[in-house]
Amino acid sequence: MTTKYLFYTGGVVSSVGKGVTAAATGLLLKERGFKVAVQKLDPYINVDPGTMSPYQHGEVYVLDDGAETDLDLGHYERFIDIRLSRSSNFTSGQVYAEIISKERRGDFLGGTIQVIPHITNEIKRRVAGIAKETNADVVIVEVGGTVGDIESQPFLEALRQLRNEVGRENVFFIHVTWLPQIGATGEIKTKPTQHSVAALRSIGISPNMIIARADQRIDKELCDKIALFCDVEKEAVVPMTTSDVLYEVPLLLEKAGVGDYLVQKLGMKATRQPDMKPWEKLVERVRKPKPTVKVALVGKYVELQDAYMSVREALKHAALHNDVEVEIGWVHSADLEKDKGWDIIQQSDAILVPGGFGSRGIEGKVMAARYAREKKVPYLGLCLGMQVMCIDFARGVLNHEDANSSEFDRSTEYPVIDLMTDQRSITDMGGTMRLGLYPCELQEGSKAAEAYGEKRVEERHRHRFEFNNAYKKDFEQGGMVFSGMSPDGKLVEIAEIKDHPFMVASQFHPEFLSRPMKPHPLFSGFIKAAKEKNGKK
Ligand code: GLN
Repeated sequence: MTTKYLFYTGGVVSSVGKGVTAAATGLLLKERGFKVAVQKLDPYINVDPGTMSPYQHGEVYVLDDGAETDLDLGHYERFIDIRLSRSSNFTSGQVYAEIISKERRGDFLGGTIQVIPHITNEIKRRVAGIAKETNADVVIVEVGGTVGDIESQPFLEALRQLRNEVGRENVFFIHVTWLPQIGATGEIKTKPTQHSVAALRSIGISPNMIIARADQRIDKELCDKIALFCDVEKEAVVPMTTSDVLYEVPLLLEKAGVGDYLVQKLGMKATRQPDMKPWEKLVERVRKPKPTVKVALVGKYVELQDAYMSVREALKHAALHNDVEVEIGWVHSADLEKDKGWDIIQQSDAILVPGGFGSRGIEGKVMAARYAREKKVPYLGLCLGMQVMCIDFARGVLNHEDANSSEFDRSTEYPVIDLMTDQRSITDMGGTMRLGLYPCELQEGSKAAEAYGEKRVEERHRHRFEFNNAYKKDFEQGGMVFSGMSPDGKLVEIAEIKDHPFMVASQFHPEFLSRPMKPHPLFSGFIKAAKEKNGKK
């Protein structure tokens, strides 16, 4: 079958759920038997999304191959249940860097380098590249940002050109827009959508479908008006009211006929009927009233919850499958140092310390780990969360008052967390981390092994520092179990405290492999322990 392309653009404003919509469409196509690939094009100039502040872009999502990507890739993986690779995400910066380095090498033999054709060719090469690499039936490409942004123009131009090259019948442009509501009259307005479609058409792209987002119900007449003004078929204007349940989006799109419409318009042959029952059941389960467990999430970027997107989703998945509701208490770790935020910790059934970098708020995280250890509150540590658990253990159990990670105190006498030896000489911030999938062997009888029900697992990593093996024996004698190790026995992957209901922490990031239908075993074990604690109250 000829590869088909779905190009997603955004209109009016950003953050209206373009990524979720693209991901959900991917699911509808996968359910019809098609092989789906996904790619996100980020218009910013950064070359390395891994070094971007979580405050501006939310979490950095890590893939199997170690690519540090935009958080939308998390939506794709969770909805479609696929494993993406590096070629699923690229930025303008990477495209420019590639072309400029070619120019420096003299590859263009003194020619003038221009946005068209050099930059657009490189964009096309990458979009066509993923089609080839994955051998997908359908390639979903999401252009970040909003139509009208200066920096996304080369992307749109490249996609416009690509449409002619691969054949118009193989390309579908889907524009996701926002319909604002006027407070005084309650009226929902389509004008910004009309303008944004006009902007698209001015660069030669007429959308084939408009997904109209709003917080309110969108009437049929309004959709027909959009169809008329924006020159789109009536059936191709899809109203999408904000849902209280994220995982309802595929069901809403399916009900609106999006799956069948795409298959028909792109001349594809579905090999099976979509089975959306599991998703219906999932949404039903989410809506069913359940007892609540409270989890205190002690982090550094808590003002922007997107910074912990995958952690939050993984908690929700695990809660759902444990038949509880999870309520997250967001605690700023630096507050704990100032005697604030402890009320949230005290009211919680469990404590989670996620990943992070830099020394701000570290002591607060160590305090949270101490509280969990001493009060026997279920604890899950993710990456930095494992490191602070070890720091507290060294200080509180082994009496090494000065213990620390050399990331935070270079001159500590007890660097229980230290740089990996082969990284000592590296000073550059980008590209120096242990990234991506690595195997981990589990110790029989441990809580981790019990949670996983397996002997060997593979998990995604993103860190520079490691548990320092010089202290391994001391820790074990003190009651810590290193229940997950790299197969060569050299790197600690999971640590847990023996005499505790559930104090388990991993050097890797389990949150990236949690799926709505398949919660991550460590998160499940954690929520189960939280539920037990809650039941005892
Ligand atoms: N800063 C720590 C390290 O580099 C932890 C990283 C993380 O939590 N992702 O090892």
